[in-house]
Amino acid sequence: MKTGFSRIAEFKNALFALTVGLLVGCAQPHGVGQEKVSLLSVDPVSDINLSVHPVVTGRDRADLQVVLDQTKAVMRSPEFLENARSLNSAYPTIFMRKGWAAWSISDVAAAIQNPTNGIRYAATPVWIKPRDGGATTGSNVGPNREWAMSINSSPLANWRADDTVQKSCAINTLSHEVMHTMLDSQGWMISIDGGRAAKSSRRSGTTASYVVGQLAQCTWLQKEGRISSDEIAMCMPVFYYQKKPNSVGKFAVDRCDDFPAGTPVKL
Ligand SMILES: [Zn+2]
Repeated sequence: MKTGFSRIAEFKNALFALTVGLLVGCAQPHGVGQEKVSLLSVDPVSDINLSVHPVVTGRDRADLQVVLDQTKAVMRSPEFLENARSLNSAYPTIFMRKGWAAWSISDVAAAIQNPTNGIRYAATPVWIKPRDGGATTGSNVGPNREWAMSINSSPLANWRADDTVQKSCAINTLSHEVMHTMLDSQGWMISIDGGRAAKSSRRSGTTASYVVGQLAQCTWLQKEGRISSDEIAMCMPVFYYQKKPNSVGKFAVDRCDDFPAGTPVKL
């Protein structure tokens, strides 16, 4: 028989789980604020640190590892930083989270490649949650409610397509989520794109996680020879959808299969 005390404890645990579940950043935003990660539990490091979660097996495991490797490689490439610099006038102010100093897109790219001032990456296992609505990163996201990143089946389906542009959409999703693995020196998530905290981006600029997803995707297309460096600015807005100007947008996943056989990647 449950005591009154254990019922209260269960209620508190459920409330905590619900709250933490809502506090994550995500590709299809449903977060409401920023999340603090225990630095003791996540082993922060100074380089992007994604791994395939042990629950992912077989072909999924092999393919996901390739996507993670490709995502990290493109985010660390010289082209990623060069492209960001070329886009500074178009993306002068990127929203990280409420209260964070204004960064340009090249500031963001530089911080990704060379984090300073105590910024670090949480070591993050990635798993596939087929029935989940989108990609999510947070401290209650793993199969055992541990710190993790979850994706649904879309990124791997995109990756397995023959079309290079469709493949690049997998890079967008994963690089977006990488932004949610960046923590400040206190363990707070730096890049927030959901809820009240993200609403500030209406006033202060473009949301970092989405811009980085676009930048990584378009840079990957350039590295694959699908677009030229001159076409990066044209490629950037293709994969971002805003219902109205100055609102928090979303990844335009419906565009992923719109560019077969060398069709120009543009709006
Ligand atoms: Zn997000």
